[in-house]
Amino acid sequence: MQAPLLEIFSSVQGEGPLVGCRQLFIRLAGCNLNCSYCDTPITVGEKGCRVEIATGSSKFEYLPWPLNINDAITYIHKNFNLNNHHSVCITGGEPLIHHQLLSKMLPMLAGTKKGIFLETNGTLPEELHQVIDHIDFISMDIKLPSAANIKPCWGLHRKFLQMALTKSLYIYVKVVLSDKTTHEELNEVYQLLQEEAPGVTLVMQPVTPFNGVNSPGVKKLMLWQAQALQHLDDVRIIPQTHRTMGIL
Ligand code: SF4
Repeated sequence: MQAPLLEIFSSVQGEGPLVGCRQLFIRLAGCNLNCSYCDTPITVGEKGCRVEIATGSSKFEYLPWPLNINDAITYIHKNFNLNNHHSVCITGGEPLIHHQLLSKMLPMLAGTKKGIFLETNGTLPEELHQVIDHIDFISMDIKLPSAANIKPCWGLHRKFLQMALTKSLYIYVKVVLSDKTTHEELNEVYQLLQEEAPGVTLVMQPVTPFNGVNSPGVKKLMLWQAQALQHLDDVRIIPQTHRTMGIL
């Protein structure tokens, strides 16, 4: 089976409650959305899958495409000590569009301290169902139409949360906030979480400015967090930290 892998690298988680945890990142190509602030590479370069040769070096070698899943897993086990990592972070793009591949690949990535961590846009509940038994942590986005400039995904996010909560795993929800974020859509988020997942941590992440999308000011962030805390127990403001550290 071919594996549409874009990047493999060892780094620290830069977002959310698990910020700072050492992870082996595996980035898959492709996404079902098209967010305006997306700065993630989601199509393969002509050189193939890039791998950072030494952590933090920004020096890469390339595994030429097409990449066979068994070859990729062999490479990972040979070049990275999974036991030194908190978890394997499966990211994208949107990794769940490759659920058949993930069903095969994830069981071959045993050996970290805590398991498999999935970063997802939270819009593919049926695909999550196919792989949920292999996953230990979920970082789920709730996409706000104002910041992402896409159609609302409320129904899909609701189904996704319902599916995720059928298993005992660690899940948190992240919303990326911009200066265009509205009170109305934040209220939708609070209502959704109150109804489906009242105990889940909500991370408010100010957008890292990109492509004309700007971060809200500190005043707005503090106000929104205070409002969110009237509905939810655990609401945290956490910006992207890997950007400030200058790491992958
Ligand atoms: S869901 Fe993520 S990867 Fe996909 S377009 Fe939006 S920001 Fe980019």
